[in-house]
Amino acid sequence: MPCPCEGCSTGKHKQYYFKFEYLKRRLENGRSIVECEESLEEIDLLKLLENNFVFERIQKGQPLQLKEGINEPNKGHTIKIFLASSAELAPEREKIEIAINRKNKELHERGIFLHLALWEDGQCIGKSFRSQDNYNEEVAACDVFALLFFSRLGKFSKEEFDIAKGRFDGDEHPRILIFQKDVDLPKGMSRRDADSLFDFKDYLSEKAHFPFMFGNTDALLRSVEACVDGLVADEGFLGKLGGR
Ligand SMILES: [Zn+2]
Repeated sequence: MPCPCEGCSTGKHKQYYFKFEYLKRRLENGRSIVECEESLEEIDLLKLLENNFVFERIQKGQPLQLKEGINEPNKGHTIKIFLASSAELAPEREKIEIAINRKNKELHERGIFLHLALWEDGQCIGKSFRSQDNYNEEVAACDVFALLFFSRLGKFSKEEFDIAKGRFDGDEHPRILIFQKDVDLPKGMSRRDADSLFDFKDYLSEKAHFPFMFGNTDALLRSVEACVDGLVADEGFLGKLGGR
């Protein structure tokens, strides 16, 4: 359940989420406030619960009962996927978008939603997570960081990768997926593009991060889908969603 404190609602710091079970237990044990772990602000527990759900009984020290027919909260998961690529991979990116939409239909009944945010050379070209065009914050909010590259690296890609990698090294979140198109490089590549490509490949091997190689779009889609299937079956990964 999202914390409604000022810092959380204005984006001053990252959104803090309360576990419903925790709020319920506090209320049933006679507590009337709860503290946001980001801002440390005290929140009125009754108001927080009332604003979010419809209850049969809501009183300090009383068992909390949802009105019949109302689903338990927190059954759903949103997986925020940040996908960065250059304009040359626009056709592949579109295919990924279609594949993710198809997956969403499949995952709907499990309450899982894949939110795909598409980025091209530092610009958001679809729906962002936080409706702002700031890739630092988007990378900081994502659950999956995916990067697609071929003959060149946008100037932001390395920086985005570093932010994601820095977070991953902390608590293995977000997951990082890198896909490299492995076909003959275009003729007449500029020196700058070639440098960006080879520098990034060296950088990845230095960081011991090895990309998935794909020779055609079908192979790319198969790896993307296999990665998504792996993630939605991974309780450890799902457990880290929503709390950020
Ligand atoms: Zn808060």
